[in-house]
Amino acid sequence: MPPAIVILTGAGISKESGIDTFRDKDGLWARVDLEEVATIEAWHRDKRKVLEFYNETRRMFRAAHVAPNPAHRALARLEREYDGEVVIVTQNIDPLHEQAGSRRVIHMHGRDGEIRCMSCGHIFESDIDLTPQSVCPNCKAVGELRPNIVWFGEMPQHMDEIHAALERCGLFVAIGTSGEVYPAAGFVLHVRRRQPRAHTVEINLEATGNQSLFHEHIYGPASQTVPAYVQRVLTRGWRD
Ligand code: NAD
Repeated sequence: MPPAIVILTGAGISKESGIDTFRDKDGLWARVDLEEVATIEAWHRDKRKVLEFYNETRRMFRAAHVAPNPAHRALARLEREYDGEVVIVTQNIDPLHEQAGSRRVIHMHGRDGEIRCMSCGHIFESDIDLTPQSVCPNCKAVGELRPNIVWFGEMPQHMDEIHAALERCGLFVAIGTSGEVYPAAGFVLHVRRRQPRAHTVEINLEATGNQSLFHEHIYGPASQTVPAYVQRVLTRGWRD
């Protein structure tokens, strides 16, 4: 069995699908103070404001013009055609990898469309807008439902599964991520320490602060660079 491939994706891969990145100047994320919508303190302070922000985010993800772009589709092709294992670890909460056909996707910051009850811990799928009056279908608590998304200060999800994948990979590729949000930003170092023979690649619009940690760098829009890179890996492998 050939070595596993682990792909880490960030907001940059969804930019050309019509979803703003975290650091886009005019983006949704820049128009709000994250301290006021993406922390547990904010939720306790003003549930309506926090829930409205995520209701709006969900509407953006469901907008007619938002769809997987060639980068998402190329990663689905890689999973279909590579003889070994391909794991996508995404920081994104959008559903574009799944919509493109990828099956092995780990959402480390949670997933839009999943709701959690803070009272009983019940997690369920739903596209409904949440309000402070929403009722948990399991324990009937009122006002305890929140998006099952990782807020600042909370533990990312599936970390054991992610570390296990990083430790068996022969190729690690980070796509469209600024390398500023931990623990994802530390994955490349983890791979290099635990798998010294693994090859590491940064694919981004421009060099990031993590650049020196990668063996190889490919810069440009993901919709062009990722399909070309996948074609190369499938036909010639990753070591030229
Ligand atoms: P980030 O906004 O910090 O960085 C995005 C990176 O993508 C930047 O380095 C930028 O240069 C690059 N980029 C922009 N357009 C690109 C393109 N067309 N092709 C290739 N690269 C491009 O995002 P992050 O590192 O993912 O961290 C921010 C946090 O906010 C993460 O948790 C992220 O998941 C979350 N977030 C998620 C979404 C989403 O679900 N789609 C959107 C915004 C933010």
